[in-house]
Amino acid sequence: MTDILCVSDLRRMFAEAAQQIQREQDMLSRLDCIGGDGDHGSTMVRAMEMLETEMNAENDKPLNVRLKDAGWRVLSVDGGASSALVGTFITGMGDEDLGRESDCKHLSASFAAGLRAVEKQTKARPGDKTMMDALVPAVQAIESAAGSGEPVARALELAAEAARKGAETTTDMIARYGRAKFLSERTLGSPDAGATSIALIFKGFSSAFTQRKEV
Ligand code: ADP
Ligand code: MG
Repeated sequence: MTDILCVSDLRRMFAEAAQQIQREQDMLSRLDCIGGDGDHGSTMVRAMEMLETEMNAENDKPLNVRLKDAGWRVLSVDGGASSALVGTFITGMGDEDLGRESDCKHLSASFAAGLRAVEKQTKARPGDKTMMDALVPAVQAIESAAGSGEPVARALELAAEAARKGAETTTDMIARYGRAKFLSERTLGSPDAGATSIALIFKGFSSAFTQRKEV
């Protein structure tokens, strides 16, 4: 198996991620009810639908242009903080030129560009009980795996594990950003909704490649 990433891989990554979010949408909204307004599940489902639509479009766009356009679609979702931040992440990923085919190092650079864009948008950092608690370790894991020459499948597996652990750590945190900061103490004992979504998205990204290995 070659370690080349092409549009069909991106399609599968986003399809799997969308499925994970769809499956857990009620749980995500329940988590958002604890510190927020309970709309997180439905917002993320709509955001993932936008990503899938753009990824599945039949055209000859280079991968980064597809990501940029997909991110813009997510930014058009009227869904508050999470759609704005996820949209920013995906448009930011498109800042990295991936051509029509790419590899693990390029994918890692693209994720890092996405994270940089989000970091310009929010002051929240790991420890603040937001999606950053999952996103930052996930991107760091991909960068470190790509740096040691790991293939895409393994890099995404490590990223998914890092995001899962990161989201889990938010259970013991008090929210400092977003709506949840107004109910900060009440959020103690439950994981952050946005961090849980990011963990599910990376789980989906990873499972797209686990399946490819089995073919
Ligand atoms: P809203 O809070 O606008 O209703 P959602 O419910 O869809 O948006 O998303 C809530 C999630 O968004 C939170 O669980 C948190 O992870 C993330 N979030 C909210 N505000 C911020 C912020 N300023 N920085 C980073 N993440 C944030
Ligand atoms: Mg909400």
